[in-house]
Amino acid sequence: MPLNSYNEAEEFDFESRLTGTGALQEDSDNEISLRPKTLSEYVGQEKIKENLSIFIKAAKSRDDILDHVLLHGPPGLGKTTLSVIIAEELSVHIKITSGPAIEKAGDLAALLTTLERGDILFIDEIHRLPRAVEEILYPAMEDFCLDLMMGKGPSARSIRIPLPNFTLIGATTRAGQLSSPLRDRFGMMFRLELYTPEELKQIIIRSANILETKITDEGAAEIACRSRGTPRIANRLLKRVRDFAQVLGDGVITEEIAQIALQKLDIDELGLDAVDRRMLGAIITHFGGGPVGLDTLAAVIGEESVTLEDVYEPYLLQLGFLNRTPRGRMATKSAYQHLDIPFPQDCRIGIEQLELSTDE
Ligand code: ADP
Repeated sequence: MPLNSYNEAEEFDFESRLTGTGALQEDSDNEISLRPKTLSEYVGQEKIKENLSIFIKAAKSRDDILDHVLLHGPPGLGKTTLSVIIAEELSVHIKITSGPAIEKAGDLAALLTTLERGDILFIDEIHRLPRAVEEILYPAMEDFCLDLMMGKGPSARSIRIPLPNFTLIGATTRAGQLSSPLRDRFGMMFRLELYTPEELKQIIIRSANILETKITDEGAAEIACRSRGTPRIANRLLKRVRDFAQVLGDGVITEEIAQIALQKLDIDELGLDAVDRRMLGAIITHFGGGPVGLDTLAAVIGEESVTLEDVYEPYLLQLGFLNRTPRGRMATKSAYQHLDIPFPQDCRIGIEQLELSTDE
């Protein structure tokens, strides 16, 4: 298994994961302390929290392990954070790894055999697990045993190694890409939704407190509206706006400072950045508003189609700026209005009215 710090599975009890060398990629500096540590600190996703806390309580009272959990939704919505909180609430260890990091069946076997009863194995980007590894995972999830092939050719034999009962938490940005045998083995599936501006405001105020930065209610609301429904973006923007507040102002994040900073960062009042605008602009100007296939669009604006689909589309869809049709992506009338481009139908109506009035 590759030994870079993110992909290497590390044993995290909550304290050690804060200082551990295997911290998550983004867990640098302040990001570590910005992660909520309990379900009550975890803002939003109320339905998921409510259900999870019941399942956690039930498992604890039966002295049972938690059933396998699948968390899906766009990046930065708190899937990893929630998994670490689940481990904390259950008072068990969590090992964190990701689909592409587990290259061979042996990598997974090495991870599974070090678990203790009740421990959590968290696999991020689980849809990217190699097929051979996925097949090892089926009996591990269902019967808590490993079926391994020893040797090759006619002398090959299969051996079965019992495992401690454990909980697998899989996280994915694309549940649709999971094979159905894998999907069916999860006892719970939760879809994380984009956060409301009010929830993001709470997250920003909480993070500002941790960062010991003064922020007004209006300043927090301004950043929240431009965070694309995503806590990771909210925290990132907060840190950048804090820099502007320190250099241009007296260190306090006010609405005005937030507006100036976000404008300088090229983030508009709805949170769209240059890539969003290029994407919508290309659909409108190059493809007459669409429909256009995702790969073609990605090639035109020079981005990966996966990035467009996972990172940019969810928010544009939520804003109602984009439609996904079987023939491709289409820009909506609101997108034209936001980019200040006349909507063709309006032009047509305009022309028709003009024609009518000249006829008269
Ligand atoms: P994902 O695993 O879905 O990509 P993460 O769990 O890494 O997302 O979350 C990204 C960051 O956003 C975390 O570092 C955390 O600080 C913050 N965050 C995510 N969800 C919440 C939440 N519900 N409440 C407060 N902060 C959150």
